[in-house]
Amino acid sequence: MAAVAELRATFASGKTKSYDWRVSQFKAILKLTNEHEKDIIEALRSDLNKPEHEAILYEICGVKKSAKLSLKELRRWMTPEKAKTSLITFPSSAELVSEPLGVILVISTWNYPFVLSFEAVIGAIAAGNTVVLKPSEIAPATSSLLSKLIGEYMDSSAVKVVEGAVPETTALLEQKWDKIIYTGSEKVGRIVAAAAAKHLTPVILELGGKCPVIVDTKANLEVTARRLILGKWGSNSGQTCVSPDYILTTKEFAPKLVDALVRELKKFYGKEPLESPDLSRIINSSHFNRLTKLMDDEKVSGKIVHGGQRDKTTLKIAPTILLDVPEDSLIMNEEIFGPLFPIITVDKIEDSFNVINAREKPLAAYLFTNDEMLKGEFVESVSAGGLSINETTLHSATLTLPFGGVGESGMGSYHGKYSFDAFSHKKPVLRRSFAGEVAARYPPYTPEKQRFLKAFLDGNIIDVFRALFGW
Ligand code: NAD
Repeated sequence: MAAVAELRATFASGKTKSYDWRVSQFKAILKLTNEHEKDIIEALRSDLNKPEHEAILYEICGVKKSAKLSLKELRRWMTPEKAKTSLITFPSSAELVSEPLGVILVISTWNYPFVLSFEAVIGAIAAGNTVVLKPSEIAPATSSLLSKLIGEYMDSSAVKVVEGAVPETTALLEQKWDKIIYTGSEKVGRIVAAAAAKHLTPVILELGGKCPVIVDTKANLEVTARRLILGKWGSNSGQTCVSPDYILTTKEFAPKLVDALVRELKKFYGKEPLESPDLSRIINSSHFNRLTKLMDDEKVSGKIVHGGQRDKTTLKIAPTILLDVPEDSLIMNEEIFGPLFPIITVDKIEDSFNVINAREKPLAAYLFTNDEMLKGEFVESVSAGGLSINETTLHSATLTLPFGGVGESGMGSYHGKYSFDAFSHKKPVLRRSFAGEVAARYPPYTPEKQRFLKAFLDGNIIDVFRALFGW
């Protein structure tokens, strides 16, 4: 593939390794974002009916935040990290030198198509690589805008956009890459991992899963309800990988929580949520049909306590709450990735941990409580890509924390310095002088030399003297 060959040649020239080149590309990203804010908002509206507020805060500000952090920190990130040495190599010094991997493939997704594309591209550039971005064809307006803007503003000998669907992705996956980052479903994640294995290419898989949220009785109900709404419906109508997927709460607390959610939902989106300009639509009719099937499953259709309205022509589904859904229902057996919020009730809040741990490891898990013991147990016993306590989704926007899954929710992580690390090889370098010769290392090997070295390596000073002086 000509594009990959050109990127390899650019990488081999050493151009992308320079600090100045990396900085110039971050500046280009900031410039294109600033100069085309309106176009970006329009593309996101066209693809998802994403409200301007969400487009600016989560997508545009997200890209700027990431580019600015990389601008500010790059020198520090590029500086070799000192490592301790031991007596064995005395006298010596050691360090870890970060070197770029080469040519990176970014296969991006449709739900945050602007920020998630650039987040990975920024990481690849920060580490000094060349990169191909394959935006998602499922968000076509943003895909074509990314292709146009990156072509106009960035160094096209080092950063390329390849648009397309399954055939184009398949062709890209046949190439040899130095690292692939894929964001999307587990099903396609397996295809990417299998293709990468043929070339022994390392992969970062940013997948999904069912992210649980536990709501304890000792929680501020109003704040909890608002933050749950923001994490679920205020984040792309639930089409967010870290959106809370289902709620776990006690039987007696569930009606109070439902009341609080309904009260706040009405304040936020009015009595006719399908008319609200502040809710994204569902990305396409196949996801719309998938979601309505989950709602209409006979095991849960009678459990809808709020919402349920849908409009096939606008692809909108109202915020919908389902109470006491059975665990063997369809909605509890796949990632919802949409505006449906089922509640499972438990006798004791601690029982929630077993419900979560009986399932695949989620990308994120949440707890709302003021109970310090419960917080401790949650952190100790729930395995997930990341956790937030008394908040939803925000850990993933904290650039000082790595973002990624564990087990079935993905492998590898990125964001901020973790992106720089993810796209670098940490090359260990040991430096010695010609001093510090130890004759016992060299042949001819003798029992005395072995006794001395064994005592030395064991750190047993008395035995070292015994071996040296024959005590
Ligand atoms: P998807 O993005 O997983 O799949 C569609 C994409 O895969 C398309 O771009 C398509 O071209 C490509 N594709 C499909 N079949 C292919 C094949 N056989 N070979 C090569 N490429 C192929 O779409 P989706 O299922 O709608 O995505 C939703 C999932 O993505 C959810 O599970 C969600 O949690 C996850 N997600 C995760 C994150 C994250 O950061 N962890 C972010 C967004 C979405």
